[in-house]
Amino acid sequence: MSEYLLTPIEYLKGIGPSRGKVLRSELGIDNFGGLLYYFPFRYIDRSRFHRISDIPELDSAVQIKGVVSGIKEIGKGRGRRLEASFKDDSGTISLVWFKGINWIKPKLDRGTELIVWGKARRYGAKWSISHPEIEFLKEQKQLQKGLQPVYHSGEKLQQVGFNTKGLERAVGELLPGIKGKIQEDLPPFIVQSLNLISKEEALFQIHQPSSHEMAQKAQFRLKFQELFFLQMELLFRKEIAQRKIKGFRFEAIGRPFNTFYEEHIPFELTGAQKRVIREIRKDLSSGVHMNRLLQGDVGSGKTLVALMVMLIAIGNGYQACIMAPTAILATQHFHSMSEMLEKMNVNVALLIGATKQKERKVIHEQLENGQIDILIGTHALLEDKVKYKNLGLAVIDEQHRFGVAQRSKLWKKNILPPHQLVMTATPIPRTLALTFYGDLDVSVIDELPPGRKPIQTSHRFESARLSVFQFIEEQIKLGRQIYVVYPLIEESEKLDYHNLMAGYEAITKRFQRPNYSVSIVHGRMNPEDKDYEMDLFASGKTQIMVATTVIEVGVNVPNASVMVIESAEKFGLSQLHQLRGRVGRGAAQSFCILMSGNKLGENARKRLETMCETNDGFKIAEVDLRLRGPGDIMGTQQSGILDLKLSDLSRDSQIVGLAREKARELLEKDPKLEADEHQRIAAKLRQILKAKPNWSRIS
Ligand code: ADP
Ligand code: MG
Repeated sequence: MSEYLLTPIEYLKGIGPSRGKVLRSELGIDNFGGLLYYFPFRYIDRSRFHRISDIPELDSAVQIKGVVSGIKEIGKGRGRRLEASFKDDSGTISLVWFKGINWIKPKLDRGTELIVWGKARRYGAKWSISHPEIEFLKEQKQLQKGLQPVYHSGEKLQQVGFNTKGLERAVGELLPGIKGKIQEDLPPFIVQSLNLISKEEALFQIHQPSSHEMAQKAQFRLKFQELFFLQMELLFRKEIAQRKIKGFRFEAIGRPFNTFYEEHIPFELTGAQKRVIREIRKDLSSGVHMNRLLQGDVGSGKTLVALMVMLIAIGNGYQACIMAPTAILATQHFHSMSEMLEKMNVNVALLIGATKQKERKVIHEQLENGQIDILIGTHALLEDKVKYKNLGLAVIDEQHRFGVAQRSKLWKKNILPPHQLVMTATPIPRTLALTFYGDLDVSVIDELPPGRKPIQTSHRFESARLSVFQFIEEQIKLGRQIYVVYPLIEESEKLDYHNLMAGYEAITKRFQRPNYSVSIVHGRMNPEDKDYEMDLFASGKTQIMVATTVIEVGVNVPNASVMVIESAEKFGLSQLHQLRGRVGRGAAQSFCILMSGNKLGENARKRLETMCETNDGFKIAEVDLRLRGPGDIMGTQQSGILDLKLSDLSRDSQIVGLAREKARELLEKDPKLEADEHQRIAAKLRQILKAKPNWSRIS
C-alpha cells in the first residue's frame, strides 16, 4: 500500500482524533486505506421513486419521496412505538419505529420532507414500513446526483456524524488523493480477457459510480480481485503441500485389495466408485502426501470406497484407521466392515469412548505391535495413548463434525503424515468446496448404486396424523420398517425431550405388542442401551424406531422404507437430507414424510418445499447455501479462514469459478511467479501466506 493509504485516519480533513477513534473502534478503520476499502452496500437511485399507490407486492424494497402528514406515539413500555403517516401524491403509508424513538421523534414534524427506503408490508388494507432508512430532503439539496452510495453505520458512528452521509463525505475527501497512487496488481492477460476496469477506477466507481453499469463493473472487478487472491493462496498452499510433504509410497495395489475385489465384494462397484478409487490409488502411489476430499451424496457408497482404499494401505504393509463422528456410526462401520472382511485375514478393531479399560489395553498393544490392521472409532482415536506401529492412511467420515485442531492430531501419528481421505456427509456446493477445501484434491461420487428408487417426499400437517399412522401400518404389513425422528436442539432440550417421549407414547399406544414393537434411541440413554435398541431395529425385531438425530449420520438399515420427521421445520436442509438418506437403501419404494406445525416461516417453507421437489443432494446444498450463508454451513471454527469484504459465496459462485480458472491459468504460465509483471502478486501472496500459518495442512 502506498504511503498515502497508510496515513492514520485522524489526518483526513474533517476527521480529527476523537472521530478517528470512533472509526477505529467501530469499523476497524485505522488509516486512509481502511476507509477506501469500506464499501457502500447499496446505492440509492435518486431518479427513481415508487408511488405509494403502485407498491408492487409484499416485502418489496421500495424508495418513496414524500412528506410527513401526522405523527403519534402509541403504547407504553415494551409495546411503545412511534407511527408517522407519510404521503406522496398517490397515497399514504405508515412508518413505524419500535426502537430509537427518542432519537427520531424530535426530527419528524408535519410537513417534513423525506426520502424513505425499506421493506413494505401490509397490515389489513394499509401499507407500512418498519424502521425505514430515512433521509431529509433539505440535507439532500446540495448533493443531488444519480447514484448515491449507502454505507452501513451504527448508533455510535451516528453520534459523531458518521451516518451514511457523513461517511460519504469522508470518502469524498479521501478519493481525490488516491489518483495515480493505486497500482494495478492483476496481470494484464487477466484484465484484458475479462475486460476489467482498472483497480483505481474501480475504487473510485464503487464509491461514486457514474452509472449503474459502472457500479456493477466496479463491484465485479473488486469481487474478482478478492476471490482471485483467495484462490491464488489456496492453489499455492496446495502446491507447497505437494512439493514439501512427502508421503508414503504405496507401490502395489496389494493382495488384500485384489482378494476382496475378486472374491468377497458384496456388489459390483458403480462407475463412479471405480473412478474415485483410481484417483485415490494414483495419489497413494505417487510418493506425495495425499490430502483428498471425497464428496458424494447420501447413500452413494462412500464407505465401501473407504474400505477398499484401506485395503490398499494394508497390502503395502501399513495400518489404516477410520474416524466417525458418533459411537453409533463407528460401531456400525465396525460391524459392516468386519462382515465384509469376514473371510479375509484382516484384523479390525473398534475403539470408542465406551470401550472398557481392559479391552483398550489390548487394542493399544495390538496397534503398537501391528496386529491390528484397521482401527475404527470416534475421536477416541486421537488420544495420545493411541499409537500405531505404522499408520499409513486415515479416513475421516462425515468431516464437518470434526474441528480443524482435532484432525491435525492424526498427522502426528507416524514419521510421515499418514495419507488422509476426508469424506463429507452431504455434498458441499462447488463454491464452498473451492473456497474451504481449495487446497485439497476433490473426488466426487456422482452416481448412486443401481436399482434405487427415488424417495417420495411429502409434507403433512398435524391434522393428517391419523392418515400418517394408517400409512405406517400399511408399510409395516408389507414387511417394512419405519423411522420416526424428533428434533433435539440444545436450547430447547427439555421441551424437545418432552415431545420425544410424548410421541413415543402415542406411537406405542397406536402400535401395540404383540403385533408391533417399537425401539427408542436418544442422547440421554447410556451407550449399551442405545446399541441394544439399534440392534433390535437393525435385525428387524422392532418395526418402528423412534429417535432423535443421533441416527442422522450413516445408520444403515436397508429394510427401513419410511422416514417420518417430526417438527421438520426445525431442521436444517442438509440435516433433513441426511435423515431422508436413511431410507431408500433397499429395493422397496421408500417414503419421507415431513410433519410440521401450521405456522411456517419463509425459510422453513422453502426448506420443506425443496425437500419435496428434489432428491439431489447437490441441488439441496445450493439452496441451503442461499438460505443460510457460508459461515453457518461450514461452522464457526472455519469461518475465520474467510475474510471476504465484498463477495458473497452464495451469490457470487460464478466469480469464484472464474477466479479459480484464472488463478490456475496464471500458475500454469508462471508457476513460481517470476515474471516482472507478477511481482506485485508474488509480494502480496507472501504477505497473505505469512499471516495465516498452517491451516491448510490440516483441513
Ligand atoms: P454413504 O455414501 O452415504 O456413506 P454408504 O456407504 O453407507 O453411503 O452406502 C449406502 C448403501 O449402499 C449401503 O447399504 C451400501 O452397502 C450400499 N452400496 C454401496 N456401494 C454399492 C454398490 N456399488 N452397489 C450396490 N449397493 C452399494
Ligand atoms: Mg456414510
